Amino acid sequence: MLRLSPFTLHQPKTLDEATQLLAQHAPDVRVISGGTDLLPNMKLAQTKVTHLVSAKFLEELHGIERTETHVRIGAATGLKTLAEDPDVLELLPALAYAASRIASPQIRNMGTLGGNISLDTRCRYINQSELWREALGGCLKSHGTECHVVPGGQGCVAALSADTVPSLIAYGAVVELASDKGLRRAPVSELFQQDGTWHVRIAREELLVAVEIPIPSPQTRVAYRKWAVRQSIDFPLVSVAVRLDVADGVLAGGSVVVGALGPRPRVLTLERLVGSTLDEKLAQALGQMVYDRARPLPNIPYDAEYRRERMVVEVRRAVRSLVGLPERPLTPQA
Ligand SMILES: Cc1cc2nc3c(=O)[nH]c(=O)nc-3n(C[C@H](O)[C@H](O)[C@H](O)COP(=O)(O)OP(=O)(O)OC[C@H]3O[C@@H](n4cnc5c(N)ncnc54)[C@H](O)[C@@H]3O)c2cc1C
Ligand code: SF4
Repeated sequence: MLRLSPFTLHQPKTLDEATQLLAQHAPDVRVISGGTDLLPNMKLAQTKVTHLVSAKFLEELHGIERTETHVRIGAATGLKTLAEDPDVLELLPALAYAASRIASPQIRNMGTLGGNISLDTRCRYINQSELWREALGGCLKSHGTECHVVPGGQGCVAALSADTVPSLIAYGAVVELASDKGLRRAPVSELFQQDGTWHVRIAREELLVAVEIPIPSPQTRVAYRKWAVRQSIDFPLVSVAVRLDVADGVLAGGSVVVGALGPRPRVLTLERLVGSTLDEKLAQALGQMVYDRARPLPNIPYDAEYRRERMVVEVRRAVRSLVGLPERPLTPQA
């Protein structure tokens, strides 16, 4: 049986109190929201801290607000709420869908958007008990000196596995972060770095307060697609968000955001394809672009080459869904 090591739970009632607690105990501290990622990682001794600061009673972190220009979502908003919110469903359907595909109903009841954005990276060599990891001599993320995914590699390449991140980037979302030094804002596209041991550019003293997403114009279409072995309770093995900006019936811009590769999502812009007609050729072109420029690693389960092929399939399907083409079976395996 895996046991939690002892910790002190702080339950601040104000943002000021929370940021002071974080500053006081950093780096031996984490924010806890739903706890669905943090507590299992603490049980696996993957995360070792003795202070947790709860987001539960912080008013600023709760609720979804729609203004004329954007949707603001508190970081402690639950995934179930996010997936079912009428404004999110109407204006940001790819985000609602991504949230609805996370884990299981029980976990979506507990898990939050802020926790999902800050979700720890995953790797087949780290999501194991401490005993298992020590038997292998550890790795760069766990008291060792080598990486088992890239032997001889200098950095940890564990995978960003958060389902909401690709569509947040595709929608141009910005996060608001608080610390004892004040507030700062950062685009989600710039929030991640190529270091799987701490891939999210959020300092230990910082708290994610909210996410702001500009309301897309009617010419912007975004789709999210996830592939995992099981339909439920499974992290993404392939995750892609496709954004198409359309003007006068042709492509005017957009991006493909690929998750579940390394610690940082891959963002591919579509300038080269501006002027393309919205048809099957576009689906094929985006599929080829992703095949050429995003390469899955053997860091998470399933054959990396199969995941590469599957990524292409999911990108083509996303494009078809956005331009009104029917889905059709493709090789490999539909
Ligand atoms: C069986 C199982 C299946 C899962 N499947 C999926 C899946 O398919 N897709 C997926 O994306 N996730 C999955 N998860 C992971 C997790 O449930 C979700 O990512 C969830 O959104 C995490 O949110 P949380 O509030 O529980 O985060 P927590 O566990 O509370 O926190 C996670 C991390 O975020 C940090 N954090 C939390 N809130 C804040 C904040 N406000 N400011 C700064 N840092 C913060 C914590 O310190 C911690 O490092 C799964 C988990 C389990 C146990
Ligand atoms: S990618 Fe390498 S260093 Fe990172 S968790 Fe996996 S084995 Fe460890």
